[in-house]
Amino acid sequence: MSTKEIDIHSALKHHFGFSKFKGLQESVIKSVVAREDVFVIMPTGGGKSLCYQLPALITEGTAIIVSPLIALMKNQVDAIRGISDHDGVAHVLNSSLNKTEVKQVKEDIVNGVTKLLYVAPESLTKEEHVEFLRSVTISFMAVDEAHCISEWGHDFRPEYRNLRHIIKRIGDNIPIIGLTATATPKVQEDILKSLDIQDATTFKASFNRPNLYYEIRPKTKTVDADIIRFVKKNDGKSGIVYCLSRKRVEELSQVLQVNGVKAVPYHAGLDPKTRVKHQDMFLMEDCDVVVATIAFGMGIDKPDVRFVIHHDIPKSIESYYQETGRAGRDGGEGHCLAYYAYKDIEKLEKFMSGKPVAEQEIGHALLQEVVAFAETSVSRRKFILHYFGEEFDNATGEGGDMDDNVRYPKKQNEAKSDVVI
Ligand code: ADP
Ligand code: MG
Repeated sequence: MSTKEIDIHSALKHHFGFSKFKGLQESVIKSVVAREDVFVIMPTGGGKSLCYQLPALITEGTAIIVSPLIALMKNQVDAIRGISDHDGVAHVLNSSLNKTEVKQVKEDIVNGVTKLLYVAPESLTKEEHVEFLRSVTISFMAVDEAHCISEWGHDFRPEYRNLRHIIKRIGDNIPIIGLTATATPKVQEDILKSLDIQDATTFKASFNRPNLYYEIRPKTKTVDADIIRFVKKNDGKSGIVYCLSRKRVEELSQVLQVNGVKAVPYHAGLDPKTRVKHQDMFLMEDCDVVVATIAFGMGIDKPDVRFVIHHDIPKSIESYYQETGRAGRDGGEGHCLAYYAYKDIEKLEKFMSGKPVAEQEIGHALLQEVVAFAETSVSRRKFILHYFGEEFDNATGEGGDMDDNVRYPKKQNEAKSDVVI
């Protein structure tokens, strides 16, 4: 073992209390410490954060971490502060800070106390911040949730497009680490190009989730009754039910409550206090089921979610994968049940009709994949993994029989013959 290897292992133990690296973490961290540009593609829960947190703690200077959500940044800052002697070790720089707070952050950076600086991309457009960051030692720049840079990603954020330009202004030789859980070849290509790191050392973990069971049912008028039956059969287990609209969320959570299920609603229309309360109830097991729009889930790490139901089919395979991926994080069973009617696809198409043409075209292409996935009669796991550029043989691969098509082969057209929603 070289000195460096010993260093990162003892740093893992010392800072994080873990005795082993997960998956590709060790190789990634070695590359980051060696100041290479690095591209990390790992499913959610794979342990991407550690790939930049650990190197940041053991290298000279401050690492800049770009992340799209304030809540996610805050969680990470709290976690890092919790394992350090000095609160200044990690900071967030965003528009919510007042002048005194910004001064403190800058002071900590100048004094070499701050190892991780979390920033929202829009804060990086502020000239005074860029000027300041130019004047201090930056160890590297990590772009988390890097798919936000791509229009083909499920969460495009235009501010991410500017990052390369800003990084160049902050310094010429700053290594860049891009990280994402979205692995479609198109999005990957976009990320590498936008960040201008085509030669980056790339690490891609498998996206197979062998403990998840994938099932698509035709969506009919009785969908609510069907969901109630499913949830009651899984009494006491934690689950998420995703709906497209806030109205459906409210209705369905009430229907579940009336049927004796401990369910709460969650959507962006609820006031922040209620949202936090319902999220906490779910995490603390004061309720079993969250009925939610897609506003729920990002950054929520509940290990024992046993089922994820899609009352409405998602608008892309990535979204489906992300949302179903919240089940079975602990490695135990996770049942992913989605209801599909072609009518819902038309509805989603209609939603897009006001958008710019380029966006509509992308949206349409993504939806066509969803249709193909919902209507396929082959292994769903094979389909998903193929979508992510991964070969999978369901006869030999792990979890190969964990879907409805493989377990109960049926005729191709069966799923299409449904009626109303
Ligand atoms: P991602 O960003 O890829 O979704 P996270 O960085 O949030 O994943 O990590 C997921 C979980 O894995 C966290 O709870 C984290 O503490 C845990 N974790 C990360 N690395 C290790 C490790 N080497 N050993 C044990 N647990 C780890
Ligand atoms: Mg992450």
